[in-house]
Amino acid sequence: MRDVVEYGHRVLLAFEDGSHFIVSAGEDSFGTHKGVIDLSKLIGAEYGSALETAKGEVFFVMRPRFVDDLFKMKRRTQIVYPKDMAFIIFMMDVKEGDLVIDAGVGSAAMCGALARSVGNMGRVFAYERRKDFYDIAKSNLEKWGLLDRVELKLKDISEGFDEKVNAIFLDVPDPWNYISNCSKALLGSGNLAIVCPTTNQVQKVIEAIESENFIMVEIWESLFRKYKPVSERLRPFDRMVAHTAYMIFARKAEKRRKEI
Ligand code: SAH
Repeated sequence: MRDVVEYGHRVLLAFEDGSHFIVSAGEDSFGTHKGVIDLSKLIGAEYGSALETAKGEVFFVMRPRFVDDLFKMKRRTQIVYPKDMAFIIFMMDVKEGDLVIDAGVGSAAMCGALARSVGNMGRVFAYERRKDFYDIAKSNLEKWGLLDRVELKLKDISEGFDEKVNAIFLDVPDPWNYISNCSKALLGSGNLAIVCPTTNQVQKVIEAIESENFIMVEIWESLFRKYKPVSERLRPFDRMVAHTAYMIFARKAEKRRKEI
Protein backbone atom coordinates (compact mmCIF):
# COMPACT_ATOMS: atom_id res chain seq x y z
CA MET A 1 0.00 0.00 0.00
CA ARG A 2 1.17 3.50 -0.83
CA ASP A 3 0.26 6.39 1.47
CA VAL A 4 0.15 9.43 -0.82
CA VAL A 5 -0.64 13.14 -0.50
CA GLU A 6 -4.07 14.17 -1.77
CA TYR A 7 -5.37 17.61 -2.70
CA GLY A 8 -5.97 19.67 0.47
CA HIS A 9 -3.85 17.47 2.77
CA ARG A 10 -1.85 19.36 5.34
CA VAL A 11 1.76 18.32 4.80
CA LEU A 12 4.94 18.82 6.82
CA LEU A 13 7.89 19.76 4.60
CA ALA A 14 11.10 18.82 6.42
CA PHE A 15 14.59 19.97 5.38
CA GLU A 16 17.74 18.21 6.51
CA ASP A 17 18.88 21.30 8.45
CA GLY A 18 15.97 20.71 10.85
CA SER A 19 13.73 23.48 9.51
CA HIS A 20 10.19 22.48 8.64
CA PHE A 21 6.94 24.01 7.45
CA ILE A 22 3.30 22.94 7.37
CA VAL A 23 1.52 23.66 4.08
CA SER A 24 -1.66 22.67 2.31
CA ALA A 25 -1.25 20.63 -0.89
CA GLY A 26 -2.92 22.63 -3.71
CA GLU A 27 -2.36 25.24 -6.40
CA ASP A 28 -0.15 27.72 -4.52
CA SER A 29 3.59 27.93 -4.33
CA PHE A 30 5.51 28.30 -1.08
CA GLY A 31 8.76 30.23 -0.63
CA THR A 32 11.45 28.86 1.71
CA HIS A 33 15.09 29.76 2.48
CA LYS A 34 16.01 26.85 0.20
CA GLY A 35 13.92 27.86 -2.79
CA VAL A 36 10.31 27.86 -3.92
CA ILE A 37 8.10 24.77 -3.71
CA ASP A 38 5.24 24.23 -6.16
CA LEU A 39 2.57 22.82 -3.83
CA SER A 40 0.71 21.06 -6.65
CA LYS A 41 3.79 18.80 -7.04
CA LEU A 42 3.05 17.38 -3.60
CA ILE A 43 -0.17 15.79 -4.82
CA GLY A 44 0.45 12.10 -5.48
CA ALA A 45 3.83 12.13 -3.69
CA GLU A 46 4.29 9.29 -1.25
CA TYR A 47 4.59 10.23 2.43
CA GLY A 48 8.19 9.89 3.49
CA SER A 49 9.50 10.57 -0.02
CA ALA A 50 12.12 13.18 -0.94
CA LEU A 51 11.40 15.98 -3.45
CA GLU A 52 13.38 19.05 -4.53
CA THR A 53 12.71 22.79 -4.42
CA ALA A 54 13.14 24.96 -7.54
CA LYS A 55 16.78 25.42 -6.38
CA GLY A 56 17.35 21.66 -6.24
CA GLU A 57 17.39 21.46 -2.43
CA VAL A 58 15.99 18.24 -0.98
CA PHE A 59 13.02 18.17 1.39
CA PHE A 60 10.90 15.33 2.77
CA VAL A 61 7.13 14.98 2.50
CA MET A 62 5.83 14.07 5.96
CA ARG A 63 2.52 13.83 7.80
CA PRO A 64 2.42 16.55 10.48
CA ARG A 65 2.19 15.24 14.04
CA PHE A 66 -0.11 16.95 16.51
CA VAL A 67 2.99 18.32 18.31
CA ASP A 68 4.20 19.88 15.04
CA ASP A 69 0.86 21.65 14.77
CA LEU A 70 1.08 22.84 18.36
CA PHE A 71 4.37 24.61 17.84
CA LYS A 72 3.20 26.20 14.59
CA MET A 73 -0.40 27.02 15.48
CA LYS A 74 -2.00 30.41 15.84
CA ARG A 75 -2.10 31.30 19.51
CA ARG A 76 -2.68 34.33 21.66
CA THR A 77 -2.71 32.56 25.01
CA GLN A 78 -0.15 30.45 26.84
CA ILE A 79 -0.70 26.79 25.92
CA VAL A 80 -0.23 23.51 27.77
CA TYR A 81 3.10 21.98 26.70
CA PRO A 82 3.15 18.50 25.18
CA LYS A 83 5.33 17.18 28.04
CA ASP A 84 2.61 18.12 30.54
CA MET A 85 -0.25 17.31 28.20
CA ALA A 86 0.62 13.66 27.79
CA PHE A 87 0.99 13.10 31.55
CA ILE A 88 -2.27 14.95 32.31
CA ILE A 89 -4.22 12.82 29.85
CA PHE A 90 -2.98 9.63 31.50
CA MET A 91 -3.51 10.93 35.03
CA MET A 92 -7.08 11.96 34.12
CA ASP A 93 -7.47 8.54 32.48
CA VAL A 94 -9.12 10.12 29.44
CA LYS A 95 -9.98 7.43 26.91
CA GLU A 96 -12.25 6.46 24.02
CA GLY A 97 -15.87 7.37 24.68
CA ASP A 98 -15.26 9.64 27.69
CA LEU A 99 -17.06 12.90 28.38
CA VAL A 100 -14.61 15.64 29.34
CA ILE A 101 -14.79 19.34 30.23
CA ASP A 102 -11.97 21.68 29.13
CA ALA A 103 -11.94 25.21 30.64
CA GLY A 104 -10.79 27.76 29.50
CA VAL A 105 -10.14 26.71 25.97
CA GLY A 106 -7.64 29.46 25.09
CA SER A 107 -5.94 28.47 21.83
CA ALA A 108 -7.33 24.90 22.13
CA ALA A 109 -4.01 23.06 22.42
CA MET A 110 -5.21 20.94 25.35
CA CYS A 111 -8.71 20.81 23.90
CA GLY A 112 -7.29 19.24 20.74
CA ALA A 113 -5.31 16.69 22.76
CA LEU A 114 -8.43 15.77 24.74
CA ALA A 115 -10.53 15.52 21.57
CA ARG A 116 -8.01 13.09 20.07
CA SER A 117 -8.14 10.95 23.21
CA VAL A 118 -11.94 10.65 23.54
CA GLY A 119 -12.27 9.34 19.98
CA ASN A 120 -15.37 9.48 17.78
CA MET A 121 -17.70 8.27 20.53
CA GLY A 122 -16.52 10.73 23.18
CA ARG A 123 -17.09 14.44 23.60
CA VAL A 124 -15.23 17.47 24.92
CA PHE A 125 -17.30 20.33 26.35
CA ALA A 126 -15.04 23.33 26.00
CA TYR A 127 -15.72 26.58 27.86
CA GLU A 128 -14.25 29.96 26.92
CA ARG A 129 -15.40 33.39 28.06
CA ARG A 130 -13.65 35.52 25.42
CA LYS A 131 -15.05 35.64 21.91
CA ASP A 132 -11.64 36.33 20.29
CA PHE A 133 -10.10 33.22 21.90
CA TYR A 134 -13.24 31.20 21.15
CA ASP A 135 -12.79 32.07 17.45
CA ILE A 136 -9.09 31.12 17.42
CA ALA A 137 -9.90 27.85 19.21
CA LYS A 138 -12.63 27.06 16.69
CA SER A 139 -10.39 27.65 13.68
CA ASN A 140 -7.54 25.58 15.20
CA LEU A 141 -9.86 22.64 15.99
CA GLU A 142 -11.37 22.84 12.52
CA LYS A 143 -7.93 22.77 10.91
CA TRP A 144 -7.03 19.65 12.93
CA GLY A 145 -10.30 17.92 11.94
CA LEU A 146 -11.40 17.67 15.59
CA LEU A 147 -14.27 20.16 15.78
CA ASP A 148 -16.98 17.47 15.52
CA ARG A 149 -15.85 15.96 18.84
CA VAL A 150 -15.94 19.29 20.65
CA GLU A 151 -18.89 21.34 21.86
CA LEU A 152 -17.46 24.85 22.11
CA LYS A 153 -19.25 27.13 24.54
CA LEU A 154 -18.85 30.88 24.85
CA LYS A 155 -19.54 30.89 28.56
CA ASP A 156 -17.94 31.95 31.85
CA ILE A 157 -17.46 28.95 34.11
CA SER A 158 -18.48 30.98 37.17
CA GLU A 159 -22.01 30.26 35.88
CA GLY A 160 -21.35 26.54 36.41
CA PHE A 161 -21.04 23.63 34.00
CA ASP A 162 -23.98 22.17 32.04
CA GLU A 163 -22.81 18.53 31.92
CA LYS A 164 -21.89 15.57 34.09
CA VAL A 165 -18.52 14.23 32.97
CA ASN A 166 -15.75 11.70 33.62
CA ALA A 167 -12.99 14.29 33.78
CA ILE A 168 -12.41 18.03 34.01
CA PHE A 169 -9.32 19.95 32.93
CA LEU A 170 -9.06 23.44 34.40
CA ASP A 171 -6.62 26.04 33.04
CA VAL A 172 -7.76 29.48 34.24
CA PRO A 173 -5.94 32.10 36.36
CA ASP A 174 -8.16 31.58 39.43
CA PRO A 175 -9.01 27.85 39.49
CA TRP A 176 -9.74 27.81 43.26
CA ASN A 177 -12.97 29.72 42.56
CA TYR A 178 -14.41 26.86 40.49
CA ILE A 179 -13.54 23.75 42.53
CA SER A 180 -17.06 23.56 43.90
CA ASN A 181 -18.53 23.76 40.35
CA CYS A 182 -16.10 21.02 39.28
CA SER A 183 -17.25 18.80 42.12
CA LYS A 184 -20.88 19.23 40.99
CA ALA A 185 -20.07 18.43 37.35
CA LEU A 186 -17.90 15.35 37.95
CA LEU A 187 -19.35 11.85 38.05
CA GLY A 188 -18.41 9.82 41.13
CA SER A 189 -14.72 8.80 41.00
CA GLY A 190 -14.20 11.30 38.17
CA ASN A 191 -10.83 12.98 37.64
CA LEU A 192 -9.93 16.63 38.05
CA ALA A 193 -6.72 18.13 36.69
CA ILE A 194 -5.63 21.72 37.17
CA VAL A 195 -2.57 23.55 35.87
CA CYS A 196 -1.18 26.76 37.33
CA PRO A 197 2.18 28.47 36.90
CA THR A 198 2.83 29.66 40.48
CA THR A 199 3.03 27.97 43.88
CA ASN A 200 0.78 30.69 45.33
CA GLN A 201 -2.00 29.48 43.05
CA VAL A 202 -1.30 25.84 43.94
CA GLN A 203 -1.71 26.65 47.62
CA LYS A 204 -5.11 28.26 47.06
CA VAL A 205 -6.24 25.34 44.90
CA ILE A 206 -5.25 22.82 47.56
CA GLU A 207 -7.18 24.76 50.19
CA ALA A 208 -10.27 24.72 47.99
CA ILE A 209 -9.88 21.01 47.20
CA GLU A 210 -9.56 20.15 50.89
CA SER A 211 -12.98 21.65 51.58
CA GLU A 212 -14.69 19.69 48.78
CA ASN A 213 -15.42 16.04 47.92
CA PHE A 214 -12.01 15.10 46.58
CA ILE A 215 -9.47 12.44 47.50
CA MET A 216 -6.15 11.16 46.08
CA VAL A 217 -4.71 14.65 45.66
CA GLU A 218 -1.34 14.85 43.88
CA ILE A 219 0.87 17.77 42.85
CA TRP A 220 3.47 17.33 40.10
CA GLU A 221 5.80 19.20 37.86
CA SER A 222 7.74 17.73 34.93
CA LEU A 223 11.24 18.65 33.80
CA PHE A 224 12.28 17.47 30.35
CA ARG A 225 15.74 17.82 28.90
CA LYS A 226 16.30 17.61 25.17
CA TYR A 227 19.52 16.18 23.71
CA LYS A 228 21.40 17.03 20.55
CA PRO A 229 21.07 14.06 18.18
CA VAL A 230 24.75 14.00 17.20
CA SER A 231 26.27 10.54 17.75
CA GLU A 232 29.88 11.65 18.32
CA ARG A 233 29.01 14.55 20.67
CA LEU A 234 26.00 13.27 22.56
CA ARG A 235 24.92 15.85 25.13
CA PRO A 236 21.90 17.99 26.12
CA PHE A 237 21.10 21.35 24.54
CA ASP A 238 22.50 24.27 26.59
CA ARG A 239 19.09 25.72 27.36
CA MET A 240 15.97 24.06 28.63
CA VAL A 241 12.43 25.06 29.47
CA ALA A 242 12.83 25.19 33.23
CA HIS A 243 9.25 25.83 34.15
CA THR A 244 5.83 25.51 32.56
CA ALA A 245 3.12 24.77 35.12
CA TYR A 246 2.37 22.79 38.27
CA MET A 247 -0.15 20.02 37.74
CA ILE A 248 -2.67 19.17 40.43
CA PHE A 249 -4.81 16.03 40.30
CA ALA A 250 -7.72 14.95 42.49
CA ARG A 251 -10.57 12.44 42.30
CA LYS A 252 -14.16 12.95 43.29
CA ALA A 253 -15.51 10.73 46.06
CA GLU A 254 -18.00 10.90 48.88
CA LYS A 255 -16.01 12.39 51.73
CA ARG A 256 -17.27 11.50 55.20
CA ARG A 257 -16.41 14.15 57.78
CA LYS A 258 -15.18 12.84 61.10
CA GLU A 259 -17.51 13.66 64.02
CA ILE A 260 -15.76 15.91 66.50
N1 SAH B 1 -5.45 25.27 28.02
C1 SAH B 1 -5.39 26.23 26.94
C2 SAH B 1 -4.91 27.59 27.40
C3 SAH B 1 -5.87 28.26 28.36
S1 SAH B 1 -5.47 29.95 28.64
C4 SAH B 1 -4.51 25.68 25.83
O1 SAH B 1 -3.84 24.65 26.01
O2 SAH B 1 -4.48 26.27 24.74
C5 SAH B 1 -6.77 30.37 29.74
C6 SAH B 1 -8.09 30.68 29.05
O3 SAH B 1 -9.11 30.66 30.02
C7 SAH B 1 -8.12 32.06 28.41
O4 SAH B 1 -8.51 31.92 27.06
C8 SAH B 1 -9.20 32.80 29.20
O5 SAH B 1 -9.97 33.70 28.41
C9 SAH B 1 -10.06 31.66 29.71
N2 SAH B 1 -10.78 31.95 30.97
C10 SAH B 1 -10.28 32.55 32.08
N3 SAH B 1 -11.23 32.59 33.04
C11 SAH B 1 -12.35 32.00 32.52
C12 SAH B 1 -13.68 31.75 33.04
N4 SAH B 1 -14.02 32.13 34.26
N5 SAH B 1 -14.58 31.12 32.22
C13 SAH B 1 -14.22 30.73 30.97
N6 SAH B 1 -12.99 30.94 30.43
C14 SAH B 1 -12.07 31.56 31.19
